[in-house]
Amino acid sequence: MAAHETPPGVPPEPARTEPVSSDQQPPIPPLAGLDLEGLRDLLVGLGEPAYRAKQVFQVVQNHGVLDPHRMTALPIALRERLAAATSPALSPIEIQTSSDGTTKFLFALADGKRVETVLIPEGDRNTVCVSTQVGCPIRCVFCASGVEGLIRNLSTAEIAEQMLHVRAHLGERPTHIVAMGMGEPLLNLPALTGAIRLWVEHDGLGFSPRRITVSTAGTPSKVDQLIELQLGVNLAISLHAPNDETRARLVPGSPAGRTAGLIEAGARFARETGRDATVEYVLIAGENDHPEHAEDLARLVAGRHIHVNLIPLNPVSHQPELRAPSSLAAQGFARRLHERGATVTLRRQRGDDIAAACGQLALERSVGEA
Ligand code: SAH
Repeated sequence: MAAHETPPGVPPEPARTEPVSSDQQPPIPPLAGLDLEGLRDLLVGLGEPAYRAKQVFQVVQNHGVLDPHRMTALPIALRERLAAATSPALSPIEIQTSSDGTTKFLFALADGKRVETVLIPEGDRNTVCVSTQVGCPIRCVFCASGVEGLIRNLSTAEIAEQMLHVRAHLGERPTHIVAMGMGEPLLNLPALTGAIRLWVEHDGLGFSPRRITVSTAGTPSKVDQLIELQLGVNLAISLHAPNDETRARLVPGSPAGRTAGLIEAGARFARETGRDATVEYVLIAGENDHPEHAEDLARLVAGRHIHVNLIPLNPVSHQPELRAPSSLAAQGFARRLHERGATVTLRRQRGDDIAAACGQLALERSVGEA
């Protein structure tokens, strides 16, 4: 059973100021989305010295303190000015912890839309899985995020702040970040790039880009854009099928006929960036777990230094007929890949008692409260 709890490390957000109703008033920026330059402009505009920018940036990005009233290292007058001039991008509305420690955060955005973030503890790793869009245009059959299609892109602040809430909850810096929550990250690349730049900034969290992974179900040309940005991050390709026909069925929102092209883009990414490219493959009984699928997949990745992660399906309520294969069958699939020269990891199912599969919690809540 899911354990419901109040967020211990997350202070209650201050009451939101009135929404900006007049066109004359400038919009109130979320603090979490401001880089050093943006903060400097804001603080100087408030009559504060420019050197304060670095101090505030550190408190927000490194320590994850989002409420200016709690920034005890700053003078009270500055705290009050900051509180009046900025707003939170997200309000935590629900936190659930699975029996295996996986913790899911449901957030409300300023416009009332909802996104979720997952914290996955595993040994000495704490991985944060952030969302990049509300909804998703890709509509993978087994994924709850795409059920209602794409609703909107998240801003840099809305992406960056997810990590800060998890950091505050955890009480320490997470070790890994994956852009693998709701949405298709490469279709919101400018906002995601802004968030990545905030996380890796030395004056803030100083997060290593090697510990950040961007996931895509995607488009080869977008992978090339990611290569050109030289962010130093890793790439995960959500393949789920080894041929165009099976992929068109399981990942209908992805451009048709591009399975091999996507693998080539992944290989190009690994070669040109020196970072990891992996393939994610959700195993679904009877759909993509036949011996021929393993053989086709092994052929696709052979000699390309692309690691395969096999993920047994987390059951989803909108497609109750989809099931994970038995663990024996999943192991057989992994063995077949391995025997044909692929490097492969069979993942454990995680957090299925808290609807931890991508988009599930947000979907259940929106259906439940519609
Ligand atoms: N659109 C991007 C980012 C979303 S992450 C992409 O497709 O890569 C998508 C990942 O979530 C998948 O690769 C899969 O690993 C995971 N996922 C989504 N729904 C799942 C489910 N029902 N069971 C297991 N994994 C799931």
